[in-house]
Amino acid sequence: MYDINKVRQDFPILSREVYGKPLIYLDNAATTQKPLCVLDAMREEYLNVNANVHRGVHYLSQQATDLHEAARETVRAFINAKSTSEVIFTRGTTEALNLVVSSFCDEFMKEGDEVIVSTMEHHSNIVPWQLQAAKKGICLKVIPINEKGEILMDEYEKLFTEKTKIVSVAHVSNVLGTINPVKEMIRIAHEHGVPFMLDGAQSTPHFSVDVQDLDCDFLAFSGHKMYGPTGVGVLYGKEDWLDRMPPYQGGGEMIDSVSFEKTTFEKLPFKFEAGTPDYVATHGLATAIKYMQDLGMDNIHAHEKMLTDYAMKRMKEIEDMRIFGEAEEKDAVVSFLVGNIHHLDMGTLLDRLGIAVRTGHHCAQPLMIRLGIQGTVRASFALYNTTEEIDTLVEGIKRVSKMF
Ligand code: PLP
Repeated sequence: MYDINKVRQDFPILSREVYGKPLIYLDNAATTQKPLCVLDAMREEYLNVNANVHRGVHYLSQQATDLHEAARETVRAFINAKSTSEVIFTRGTTEALNLVVSSFCDEFMKEGDEVIVSTMEHHSNIVPWQLQAAKKGICLKVIPINEKGEILMDEYEKLFTEKTKIVSVAHVSNVLGTINPVKEMIRIAHEHGVPFMLDGAQSTPHFSVDVQDLDCDFLAFSGHKMYGPTGVGVLYGKEDWLDRMPPYQGGGEMIDSVSFEKTTFEKLPFKFEAGTPDYVATHGLATAIKYMQDLGMDNIHAHEKMLTDYAMKRMKEIEDMRIFGEAEEKDAVVSFLVGNIHHLDMGTLLDRLGIAVRTGHHCAQPLMIRLGIQGTVRASFALYNTTEEIDTLVEGIKRVSKMF
């Protein structure tokens, strides 16, 4: 059903060597490799279609606009949004989160109001709130986690007060791999009359995310983490919220009319899309989404779950292995340390064996503080990885360990 050899042929970079060794790419949570169909689609658009979108009457501009708007429809269907008005193209997850934080705070939050985030957030779901805290005096409340790296649901419920205005949490932790119980968390937030923003950077590449089923109010994700190009991402927002939020940036594309006395804004989604969008990248992203859909999101998830379970089992064979993140619901990420070996040393020596992993705090320093460490080594899996690659990783870790 899932022909991994055929899948790998779609990604020529996977056949290259580094330091004379076959490349083993296990840094997928940072960014994924791109299949040929995505590269071909973007090359074809630059070669034969390229023109600025929306404002042109000429043939190429209309064709480019059609591709760009078709991409919006592909994204809408991918996350099951009600309407393309709810799909805003951004530069990535970070920009999507910043957009909501800034615009939501402007309209709906005042000094003393509270946002709930979790211990395992990426900096991009912490720092934008802190910028608002400095500007407006809003407060961050933090959901604690247990030793396995799971959210403490009882503690979550206790954080709500009459000042809570929004909850903003990662669907999947980029360090622990924990899949958070977001459907239940969203239900609880709504019970308190509070909207919920989901950071989907590490979920949308791995399994189906249905915004209507989850009932999230906002969802942010990045194209480059799901086989699409860099520089493009998505903000989904319920129309009702987006309609009431002010624009994030001003400029071309987002206005209805402008005079020096008064400006009126475009309707959704364009109100939030100032300036020329990366329309070639949106077409690339749509091509990546179709590629994933052709393979089947459930097949991708099953393959990656098999890889994660296999990696967890094999890595526990290694002496002095410490794995961070042992949640019941876990996906595609294994963070670890071995004995006293510094994460940077482990990463550098694995690299010499052709194995690409990430080391450090993974933009989650508050989580590192909670875990009482400075950083980890992180292996993260994608739809093209194999159990043989995990075997080579395990042998590599054992080799490095012996050297110390
Ligand atoms: N949120 C999570 C959970 C992430 O893992 C990342 C990237 O690693 C981001 C947000 C930020 O994504 P980007 O850098 O593509 O904006």
